[in-house]
Amino acid sequence: LADRLQSTIKKITGKGKVSEQDVKEMTREVRLALLEADVNFKVVKDLINRIKERAVGQEVMESLTPGQQVIKVVKEELTTLMGGEHSKIAVSDRPPTVIMMVGLQGAGKTTTTGKLANHLRKKQNRSPLLVACDIYRPAAIQQLETLGEQLSMPVFSMGTEANPVDIATKAIEQAKEEHNDYVIIDTAGRLHVDNELMDELQQIKSKVKPDEIFLVVDAMTGQDAVNVADSFNDQLDISGVVLTKLDGDTRGGAALSIKAVTDKPIKFAGMGEKLDELEAFHPERMASRILGMGDVLSLIEKAQTNVDEKQAKALEEKMRTMSFTFDDFLEQMGQVKNMGPLDDLMAMIPGANKMKGLKNAQLDEKQLVHVEAIIQSMTKKERHEPSIMNASRKKRIAKGSGTSVSQVNRLLKQFEEMKKMMKQMTNMQKGKKGKGMNF
Ligand code: GDP
Ligand code: MG
Repeated sequence: LADRLQSTIKKITGKGKVSEQDVKEMTREVRLALLEADVNFKVVKDLINRIKERAVGQEVMESLTPGQQVIKVVKEELTTLMGGEHSKIAVSDRPPTVIMMVGLQGAGKTTTTGKLANHLRKKQNRSPLLVACDIYRPAAIQQLETLGEQLSMPVFSMGTEANPVDIATKAIEQAKEEHNDYVIIDTAGRLHVDNELMDELQQIKSKVKPDEIFLVVDAMTGQDAVNVADSFNDQLDISGVVLTKLDGDTRGGAALSIKAVTDKPIKFAGMGEKLDELEAFHPERMASRILGMGDVLSLIEKAQTNVDEKQAKALEEKMRTMSFTFDDFLEQMGQVKNMGPLDDLMAMIPGANKMKGLKNAQLDEKQLVHVEAIIQSMTKKERHEPSIMNASRKKRIAKGSGTSVSQVNRLLKQFEEMKKMMKQMTNMQKGKKGKGMNF
């Protein structure tokens, strides 16, 4: 999806004025791209009509930067389509708050149960009780218990003989006694939607009256995910959707259609198998990602959970004000190391994948050691004002860090490029006109 849209966007951003013909061409490409990405055709049709209406009007024609305007319109419409702002998890005024997880087999219910519990504890200081109501799948209870152990959180189960409705009921009683403020019920799935499954889920629902029913859907299943969401919503009136496996080779089509078809928000995105790989779903960021602008905010958010939040905020501020120095660079490198595979991170930086030289040189993990040594050999003044760097300073730094002058030069150059890139990124975030719209 991103590739197609990007090439069309590229064509249009280079232009000074956009003609009606351009808009037509653009919307045709957008339409094809969305259909190719398994977006429901009715959804696409509505979307294209709205884009055309807005883009062909004066809004674009009279604008100084028409390319940007068209992208803005497309992005806004994609965002709206995915549900505007992201939503929070309900809090019951009579604890415990009960969350019921539903979905097909393999969608990621059990994993997401663990992730959600982790999220509630980490971000909201809650103490959840996990409940094993999947009595059919062999080892399902065991799987949840293992997650509970990893998280040091209680798991309620009554084995495979008990009735799921009873299990859920007793679990809530226990949660009250033990002062667990959230109860997350992991239910059984099937390979396909069937009546037996729906009956059971409806029984649980009517007995425990959950505050939230989260439907877990696998983003990789494309249009199927949308159909599944539609029928679960019909039968259970779900309150939100968790879209899993967005870390995989997904085309994003599911995210675009689910909200439109069910009118229920996508609340979270599963970004991997690990327990901390759950993110709040931000429609705007998803739209940006689809449009290939990268996802700067996610990057910053990722930094926040892995490092001190204050540090990350300060970094964000520095990027915005451009007072970024080698000291920050050093600090940031430390953070980057804690954040996992560099490729993941680079994928989120707009345009970074195109800056091949920069990527290879700057982010090869072995080279980070050299980079660190070079910066550490700089004086305070040099770190803040790299422009004062002359030949003798460079020589001293190379010697001090056990590197060569050409390595020092390379780093200085990369640093400048990085600053430039940050400028582009922050401009893009602010939607500034006329600068750096460089896909
Ligand atoms: P359930 O049958 O709905 O309970 O699904 P599980 O929680 O057992 O998950 C099925 C598989 O999907 C497991 O191998 C999980 O590790 C994997 N999985 C779940 N969520 C994600 C995700 O967000 N990303 C990736 N890559 N894998 C996931
Ligand atoms: Mg399961």
